[in-house]
Amino acid sequence: MEDLAADPQTRVLMVQGGRLGVDGDGLALFAVDELPQEAWQPDQLLYLGKDQQRRFLALMLPDDLGHERDLDGVPTQARLVELVAGVQFGHLRDIGDRLHDRDAGLATSAVALTEWHQRNPRCPHCGEATEIIDGGWVRRCSTEDSLHYPRTDAAVIMAVTDEEDRILLGHAAHWPTGRFSTLAGYVEPGEPLEEAVVREVAEETSIVVGEATYRGSQPWPFPCSLMMGFRAQVRPGTGTEVRVDGEELTEARFFTREQLLAQVQDGRVRLPMRSSIARALIEEWYGGPIPS
Ligand SMILES: [Zn+2]
Repeated sequence: MEDLAADPQTRVLMVQGGRLGVDGDGLALFAVDELPQEAWQPDQLLYLGKDQQRRFLALMLPDDLGHERDLDGVPTQARLVELVAGVQFGHLRDIGDRLHDRDAGLATSAVALTEWHQRNPRCPHCGEATEIIDGGWVRRCSTEDSLHYPRTDAAVIMAVTDEEDRILLGHAAHWPTGRFSTLAGYVEPGEPLEEAVVREVAEETSIVVGEATYRGSQPWPFPCSLMMGFRAQVRPGTGTEVRVDGEELTEARFFTREQLLAQVQDGRVRLPMRSSIARALIEEWYGGPIPS
């Protein structure tokens, strides 16, 4: 941290309540000397990595920044409050599409790490408060000297197709009207990814799929998932009659390419955002970008 503080090339982004500081071009990045001294607290700074020119940190801002006041009624960390007031903040879900690859990677790590710190302030063994060490990638319990690392929850997401090469998309109960996407779900303890695909599709739609083929992955730090994407085909002879569970999914159906395009264009179907692995799986099946 001392080395990073002394390096004029170091850049710092801001995270507050799961949202990221942005400017017109992408993430708002500050040089160290643009930050007030009071911001340089090693337990609030997360080391995110480097590219060819620079090293990057995330500054974790408390949700209630500026709410605490000193005896004269002046906000504590007043200079930081003033600096932050000039920064716009956006949720990664909303700004992800705007970020180029480097910033998307920085933003995803920053959100994933801050979510972990906020949800895990205490030792899972003894319940004592833990401290942040190693640039934000480890928490240590000083009572028993145990170390605790960020965790990632495995989830599968899958483009299911039938013998006519139609794609199965579902509508989750809590989504806005018309939103359809690929099926997805969490991997259970002791379960291989491929079996999670088969189980989730059967649970959510009663459709039976055969082998699943891995296609790629996407970190999904809301709060700590890693989505692993698959293609899977309906097992021949098992039928394509969809029965949704009515709780997680309220609707699911197979679409031909023509049906999907027509329903996206007339607004009856809204697909997931372009930066999502769900969209990538759908467009891989479709054969190219689907104009919205
Ligand atoms: Zn402990």
